Amino acid sequence: MGVHRSRWMDSDTDMLAELARNFFEKECAPNEERWGRQQHVDREVWSRAGELGLLCASIPEEYGGGGGTFAHEATIALEQVRALAPSFGGMLHSGIIAHYLSGYGTEEQKRNWLPKMASGELVAAIAMTEPGTGSDLQAIRTSAVTDGDDYVLNGSKTFISNGFLCDLVFVVAKTDAAAGAAGVSLIVVETADLPGFRRGRNLEKIGQHGQDTCELFFDDVRVPRSNLLGELEGQGFIQLMQQLPQERLFLAISAVAAMEKAVQLTLDYAKERTAFGKPIFSFQNSKFVLAESDTLVTVGWSFLDDCIEKHLAGELDIATAAKAKWWLTEQQCIVVDRCVQLFGGYGYMAEYPIARLYADSRVQKVYGGANEIMKEIIARTL
Ligand SMILES: Cc1cc2nc3c(=O)[nH]c(=O)nc-3n(C[C@H](O)[C@H](O)[C@H](O)COP(=O)(O)OP(=O)(O)OC[C@H]3O[C@@H](n4cnc5c(N)ncnc54)[C@H](O)[C@@H]3O)c2cc1C
Repeated sequence: MGVHRSRWMDSDTDMLAELARNFFEKECAPNEERWGRQQHVDREVWSRAGELGLLCASIPEEYGGGGGTFAHEATIALEQVRALAPSFGGMLHSGIIAHYLSGYGTEEQKRNWLPKMASGELVAAIAMTEPGTGSDLQAIRTSAVTDGDDYVLNGSKTFISNGFLCDLVFVVAKTDAAAGAAGVSLIVVETADLPGFRRGRNLEKIGQHGQDTCELFFDDVRVPRSNLLGELEGQGFIQLMQQLPQERLFLAISAVAAMEKAVQLTLDYAKERTAFGKPIFSFQNSKFVLAESDTLVTVGWSFLDDCIEKHLAGELDIATAAKAKWWLTEQQCIVVDRCVQLFGGYGYMAEYPIARLYADSRVQKVYGGANEIMKEIIARTL
């Protein structure tokens, strides 16, 4: 079973893949255990990724980015999973948040923040979810009220990835509490020495231990009105709806890469480990489990490549992205669980990569929009 090569890959993405592989294998993977204990990556790894050109790869060069496309971001995301180095939050920062800025930011906002995001000087997070609401985004309570030239923010957010290290938070807030979805805006908050802004503890998760996930609190936090993303209030919901398909595609990419990796690890193990005097791969059950899993990986790639090609052509619709997100993350959990079984007791030991893949996989069905919400989105088109 070789590593899959997609039709959308070319010599340029091959070169980037090699660079990313080296970075994740040599500079991230050996630190994963320590990062897991401290619950975040070292801050310097962000600057290092920026130095290598692994941040904001698909942002135009005039704003400090790599000038590439979604294919470049997808390549980096794949190599990260393959290297078993899940903690670094670069995909969210570059592939998702930077695109809010490049897509909707004013010229001044883009010039202010994108080059620093590309160099790793600024780490970005996006804060939608609140303790009281996640799926039902319209029900958020964080408010941004105009006061002179400022917005005054009040509210709290939870489960925020990159929350412990972030310097720039894109806060989803109500600028008009009475207007429902039309009252939602994105406000960019620079966190350094900001009165009223507070990070909660780093949350203890069942997996992804080295990825920082935090609560964030805003108590009468003042930011200039010019930090509203874009020119107009009330655009937040539309901006989120337009960008979420790309976020969901990233989750689908990591799903397929993780199941491919799980099958490779399990094949190696099953051929080497013996029981009853023969390799466990020789039992018909093991062969069938791996044959079925390998088939799911093949089908997964086929669907995923089709979605990526559509997205590169600007033709990926919201429902198809939702299909990729729910179906591929579901298959990821099925395949990884079956692989754990073939490892026996070792599959439950945290030092084994298959156990970490198992713990890391579960959240894929929840974040980026729960899989039930994906089915709601699809059903609306039926
Ligand atoms: C590790 C991690 C990282 C995260 N990172 C971020 C981040 O960076 N930024 C951010 O803003 N958020 C982040 N989240 C939050 C994540 O997006 C939410 O947890 C998710 O959207 C679900 O929201 P909720 O937890 O409030 O669940 P709820 O909305 O309370 O839903 C709970 C469950 O109810 C069911 N459900 C809800 N609504 C429906 C419906 N209409 N139909 C059928 N079933 C339904 C689903 O099964 C759902 O899983 C992260 C979460 C985790 C765990």
